Amino acid sequence: MGIDVERWKARIRTAVDELRGTLLATSHDIHANPELLFKEHRASARLADELERGGLRVARGVGGLATAFRAELDGGEPGPTLAILAEYDALPGIGHACGHNIIASSALGAGLALARSGERFPGRVVIIGTPAEEGGGGKILLAQAGVFDDVDAAFMLHPSRSDMVRRSSLASSRIELVFHGKASHAAGAPDLGINALEAVIQTFVGVNARRLQMRADARVHGIITHGGDAVNIIPARASARFSVRARDRAYQRRLVTMLRQAAEAGATSTGARLEWAETRGYDNTVPNPTIADVMARDMTALRRPVVEPAPNERMGSTDMGDISQILPAIHAYFAIVPESIANHTVEFAVAAASPAGDAAVVDGAATLAMTAADLLAEPALLARAKAEFARQLAAGEVAGRRTWLAHGKEYAAVGVPE
Ligand SMILES: [Zn+2]
Repeated sequence: MGIDVERWKARIRTAVDELRGTLLATSHDIHANPELLFKEHRASARLADELERGGLRVARGVGGLATAFRAELDGGEPGPTLAILAEYDALPGIGHACGHNIIASSALGAGLALARSGERFPGRVVIIGTPAEEGGGGKILLAQAGVFDDVDAAFMLHPSRSDMVRRSSLASSRIELVFHGKASHAAGAPDLGINALEAVIQTFVGVNARRLQMRADARVHGIITHGGDAVNIIPARASARFSVRARDRAYQRRLVTMLRQAAEAGATSTGARLEWAETRGYDNTVPNPTIADVMARDMTALRRPVVEPAPNERMGSTDMGDISQILPAIHAYFAIVPESIANHTVEFAVAAASPAGDAAVVDGAATLAMTAADLLAEPALLARAKAEFARQLAAGEVAGRRTWLAHGKEYAAVGVPE
């Protein structure tokens, strides 16, 4: 039908310029009023209101989550559905130290700019408000509830240390370990006790004993959540929490087995009894090459040269990883801090409302909208993205919808923070 995509993208950029004030006000408001997972009422209402005012059709509380929403822009002709995802939850204590205010405002800007551009196109763009990335797995819950069933491709932007389109993320899960021993007087009758704390310590020692044999991407990190009540009591109960992550789920499962062996050895060597509970984490992100290429070109056009991730790239985990397991998707990054600053720090929280953070909102809105325009104007691109996903599925690099839904039953419940 011949969309002039360069003219469309020029109109998108003009629209983003006009929207600058609204987008930054929204970003700063969300930043100044941090809300924790599943309680993002103010942020989700503000975003939904703005999208509705911009002419999108908004459904609130989708997927059974009160702070989720789905805003739809219909192109006027039949075609694919592209999703741009917004996150807006904050962290306890340090507020928007992951910069989700920027993710939310750039997604908002993309939706509003596409609406303002006035272009007729085949298909739909949906802005999906996804709560609780920091520990609740909002995207997993929404996908399980069918909110992504009609989505052909999805993408989003996250603030970071450099501009990237191909960074992946780690598959994760969380394990709670409780050791049950027997209390006794630690000086008067130690021989009558069973020391649960020593079982925890042996677990850490056992994990450390295998670190050299772990792959470089392995992350097995734990804390002691209970180590006893008094120094003169042999601890009858001690507990630890581990997060286990790797670049792919198969290796992550092997690491969980290693942890299990260390914990069982800890129990055996001390006489304590092990109680083990695993909680589902997030799947690793598998970036879609075509969507990544399209977005890289749009970022470069905004004078943001894209950096390729290092072989030993620093990565966390995100529930966008799960979305990338069921459909073509990318989780792209915009620089707002230098390489020396990590997210989940006070410095990152400050940057999320700084001039660099604001630039990421504005450039992010334009990038997301232009990427949507490219994919809608040139159907061959989306066809290629889908063919790549089919290849990834055949190669076992992604799970696909059916297998992915099944691992909801393999692990107890959702709930591992980034
Ligand atoms: Zn984040």
